[in-house]
Amino acid sequence: MARYTGPACKLCRREGKKLYLKGERCTSGKCALDRRSTAPGQHGAAKKKMGEYGLQLREKQTTKRYYGVLERQFKNYYEEAARKEGMTGENLLILLERRLDNTVYRMGLAESHKEARQLVLHAHFTLNGKKVDIPSLLVKPGDVIAVKEASRDSAKIKALAEALESKTAPKWLDVDKTNLTAKVVSFPARDDIDFDFNEQLIVELYSK
Ligand code: SF4
Repeated sequence: MARYTGPACKLCRREGKKLYLKGERCTSGKCALDRRSTAPGQHGAAKKKMGEYGLQLREKQTTKRYYGVLERQFKNYYEEAARKEGMTGENLLILLERRLDNTVYRMGLAESHKEARQLVLHAHFTLNGKKVDIPSLLVKPGDVIAVKEASRDSAKIKALAEALESKTAPKWLDVDKTNLTAKVVSFPARDDIDFDFNEQLIVELYSK
């Protein structure tokens, strides 16, 4: 399946907001969006008034890119969210939060969603004691995510474990910073997600 391999910062400039795709760089003075906030391309600096559809489309793209999910997968999440009880937009965000790669990111053991996805793909984690390498797996209350024993001595994991000390996980995760594990204590709630999404716009887009 085709995955975007172009410059990550271009995506933030396109959406006009920080998507935090490059870890530490995003909060440093090197952030491309802080230095140049116009959209990419020849006409990027031109001021355009966005219509209703444009706003809905941009919100969908922002959400999809923030979580690093492809178009088809995103639509599948939406359809599953719509089948569930409750508010579809909120259900959608909660499904995306429950992805294993996002959980690793929220644990604080990756600097970005992209890095979390790579770590999962390279099988550095276990889920309930079993090796996993599927970033899209959905975690649920009671699940335990841990750094695989054999990966603990890798320089990469050691550096991430050191950085973990200064991080705070959302309340749906109980992180043990010494043992590099996290227990899912509840499903994530909407107010656990500290990114400014307007999920109602996505619902309006798909309801057309
Ligand atoms: Fe986006 Fe991070 Fe690049 Fe800034 S540094 S533009 S937040 S990916």
